[in-house]
Amino acid sequence: PNLGIYDYLFGDLAEEDLDRVAVVDGASGAETTYRTLRGQIDALAGAVAAQGLGVHGVAAILCPNIPAFATVFHGLLRAGATVTTINSLYTAEDIANQLTDAGAGWLFTVSALLPAAREAAERTGIPAERLVVIDGADGHPSLADLLGAGAPAPQVSFDPATHVAVLPYSSGTTGRPKGVMLSHRNLVANVEQSRGMLDVGPEDRVLALLPFFHIYGLTVLLNIALRQRARLVTMPRFDLPEFLRIIQDHRCTYLFIAPPVAVALSKHPLVAEYDLSSVHTTLSGAAPLDGELGTRLAQRLGCRVLQGYGMTEMSPVSHLIPRDGVDVPVSSVGYTVPNMQCRLVDPATGEEIPVPAEGTSAPGHLLCRGPNVMLGYLNRPEETADTLDADGFLHTGDIATVRADGVVTIVDRLKELIKYKGYQIAPAELEALLLTHPGIADSAVIGALDADGQEVPMAFVVRQPGPDGAALDEDAVMAFVAAKVAPFKKVRRVEFIEAVPKSSSGKILRRMLKTTAPAAGA
Ligand code: ATP
Ligand code: MG
Repeated sequence: PNLGIYDYLFGDLAEEDLDRVAVVDGASGAETTYRTLRGQIDALAGAVAAQGLGVHGVAAILCPNIPAFATVFHGLLRAGATVTTINSLYTAEDIANQLTDAGAGWLFTVSALLPAAREAAERTGIPAERLVVIDGADGHPSLADLLGAGAPAPQVSFDPATHVAVLPYSSGTTGRPKGVMLSHRNLVANVEQSRGMLDVGPEDRVLALLPFFHIYGLTVLLNIALRQRARLVTMPRFDLPEFLRIIQDHRCTYLFIAPPVAVALSKHPLVAEYDLSSVHTTLSGAAPLDGELGTRLAQRLGCRVLQGYGMTEMSPVSHLIPRDGVDVPVSSVGYTVPNMQCRLVDPATGEEIPVPAEGTSAPGHLLCRGPNVMLGYLNRPEETADTLDADGFLHTGDIATVRADGVVTIVDRLKELIKYKGYQIAPAELEALLLTHPGIADSAVIGALDADGQEVPMAFVVRQPGPDGAALDEDAVMAFVAAKVAPFKKVRRVEFIEAVPKSSSGKILRRMLKTTAPAAGA
């Protein structure tokens, strides 16, 4: 259906769903029903439209996961505005850069983030009356002020297929984050493509830990849970005891996580102290989830563990293990979502890699096409042209294999494969292996140059607290890996670190390790 996201989510809200809880604040327990949420969205749209924010305007949201995020995000979209969502850990400078790149004329934030928000707003010429402080602050409008203005919801018209609804930014794992133009149609399409496979229902209580500012949180948490009339339980930042308490106290049923949370849930002793029996399904995405880790997690929580794959440019989901999928290994990312076509090509020649009638294909560059694929990057025509080809296929930059029955497994990012003597080594495979060592709490692998200028696998290792970790040295790490992999994949350098640098969407920032890796031969 060619609908705006508001009409799609709330247009046919049934009478019996109005008094269901849509969002609950995990910390305070404050509940917002679907009736209240929709009323607030209409009121906010009316208030901002009365001040001239409409289809030509861009508004930014800098806000952790709290229930008001849902009101602000959908209220702005209802007014026809384009919304850019900002990482709530950003500095004033990062915020100002995104405001400028996106051309934002409004900024919605919370009082806790006001110092950075105010500095960024001043630097980019956003006046105080357009810097809205959701929970209130002197000299700025609050969300309550806008909701109380009593302005009727506006009549707006735009083409959902071409009007930019959101400008989320990619995670910046490989370089500077890129603004991604997603239309209303992109957002609606991705909810439609994913919701059947995920099978979130009205009885589900979905823990909203992953940030709403990232497209994973926006689509999979916010939009899918709302569309399915489920209950979202918000959590503003990751803290293991609070995370466990919220699952227990709110009887959460469905967890959406990234691999670092999977590591904590499967290794940390604290987990045993909470009653997590309400959880029936956990889905990991955003970075590779190792099969063994997934299996351990499923055993420990006594729940189904699934994996999904996507990227900001695909709104974001292109692959999922269906909730009722049988014979789909958790180390895979499952099947292509409906209404998408995928191809595998040789990254060097561009030639199609066939999927055999039995067994699994050779690895290749994954290309995807469908109604959830972005309109393009903002202000980056060359990168858009490099990423979207003439046939409408998006070049994901990821290497994958496809099983005869369509199950896809992600190998790693094309750019991060380590090239050693004509072989290609996926850092993700070695990282997963290292994590199985009892003395290793976390790890990251990169290609580092040896004294001959040859790229070799180098492991950064975080020791597990206690005797197993203390006993670990460089030789022990190398010997552990060497005993389990083909000789060309051996780890040839090891460095111990305190923590693996990760982005707030849960990805290993290998480029940060590259800059700290000692020079060749040092
Ligand atoms: P940037 O494009 O700015 O460098 P990014 O690619 O990390 O950052 P996102 O759009 O948040 O930004 O992430 C998409 C990428 O995340 C994918 O291209 C893929 O490399 C990785 N990814 C997502 N899900 C999975 C998964 N289940 N397994 C392996 N990798 C995944
Ligand atoms: Mg990317």
